[in-house]
Amino acid sequence: MSEKAIPYKIYLEEHEMPTQWYNVRADMKNKPAPLLNPGTLKPMTAGELGAVFCDELVKQELDDTTAHFDIPQEIRDFYKMYRPSPLVRAYCLEKELGTPAKIYYKFEGNNTSGSHKLNSAIAQAYYAKQQGLKGVTTETGAGQWGTALSMACAYLGLDCKVYMVKCSYEQKPFRREVMRTYGANVTPSPSETTNVGRKILAEHPGTTGSLGCAISEAVEDATTHEGYRYVLGSVLSQVLLHQSVIGLETKAALDKYGIKPDIIIGCAGGGSNLGGLISPFMGEKLRGENDYRIIAVEPASCPSLTRGKYAYDFCDTGMVCPLAKMYTLGSGFIPSANHAGGLRYHGMSSVLSQLYDDGLMEATSVEQTAVFDAATKFARVEGILPAPESSHAIKVAIDEALKCKATGEEKTIVFGLTGTGYFDMVAYGKYNDGEMQDYIPTDEDLAVGFAGLPKVDL
Ligand SMILES: *Cc1c(COP(=O)(O)O)cnc(C)c1O
Repeated sequence: MSEKAIPYKIYLEEHEMPTQWYNVRADMKNKPAPLLNPGTLKPMTAGELGAVFCDELVKQELDDTTAHFDIPQEIRDFYKMYRPSPLVRAYCLEKELGTPAKIYYKFEGNNTSGSHKLNSAIAQAYYAKQQGLKGVTTETGAGQWGTALSMACAYLGLDCKVYMVKCSYEQKPFRREVMRTYGANVTPSPSETTNVGRKILAEHPGTTGSLGCAISEAVEDATTHEGYRYVLGSVLSQVLLHQSVIGLETKAALDKYGIKPDIIIGCAGGGSNLGGLISPFMGEKLRGENDYRIIAVEPASCPSLTRGKYAYDFCDTGMVCPLAKMYTLGSGFIPSANHAGGLRYHGMSSVLSQLYDDGLMEATSVEQTAVFDAATKFARVEGILPAPESSHAIKVAIDEALKCKATGEEKTIVFGLTGTGYFDMVAYGKYNDGEMQDYIPTDEDLAVGFAGLPKVDL
């Protein structure tokens, strides 16, 4: 196929959208380690998980062998409102860089929540509704997950309680109001409404909160109220499963034009967009059918894959959640307050952690001013104002394209553009005013988080 025949945006037809999610764990030889009960340190049973999560989602969480799960019709109908999402050939960026590389990005920002998170939010809300629950509780950091879940709950008529990390609650009032407009109840975390919130406030007065702390509050709220379950927007294997829709669409669009990527790049916070984007490609790699370079990009200020330890750790600060084996900075790690780029979670999906530990993917970390340089360059030529999180992937895609420029190689690069940055204008403002600073934790800083890792002998 001649290059000119490739359109600026590759859209799939509605009937080409995936009808099943793909579970990459089914093809992994080394399965991710099981979640452990924080009290007994034994693998969590379905019954124990069912006290916190919806039953159908527990099944998905524990299933390491079923490769394909049907996407229920009601979820597919919802997906149709904003999917298939376009795979864009970044012709303008290529020209700007003067690179022979071919750059594509899968754009997940074309819905009001502004990110890929809606793909899992609608699935989790759907299963809660199926179970006859009244509502769900959750945490949100930057606010995208809470927004996505609020939209999904509004659509299905479910109650939605969101614990929002206090610094975001204060810095992003518009995000908060979007959630409230969709009918969600939004509480700044840590709050006085839960035991764990009161405890954290007593120990750390004036704290601006963390994701780990908001998770503890949301879990406590769900487990102490009849008819509620807790839902999580990243990290869990079920979330990667739902997000596989991103990778399946990407692969279908590339296949339509006979394009094989050399490098696949995604930003990594808890790992859900990256896990979803790479799933079908990683599946081919695991089955020995094809090879790809896969790169996770994380902030230098929260470097779980590149500088963390692969160990069992708490998923939350209050230590009420199951333990997960993952690359982690320790559940007590809180990134510098200067850090504006999202991706602040202390750990990483146990699926991605295992794949990384097995050498099946790479990871790199980038500093935030370089991320905003890349975001600005991208916005000016491609027109989309990217989320800071997504811009981590842009930065590394640009770096790889510039390497191709130096060597003359015509590699094909695909990256995930997870969302838009309209609610990150305070951070963009800092960058535009030249006031943004980089912060890289020292080994001593990280040692504090590692010291809090639980001792688990299996
Ligand atoms: C939440 C979010 C991320 C990071 O989360 P993952 O689970 O690592 O994908 C990245 N980009 C955007 C726009 C987000 O909202």
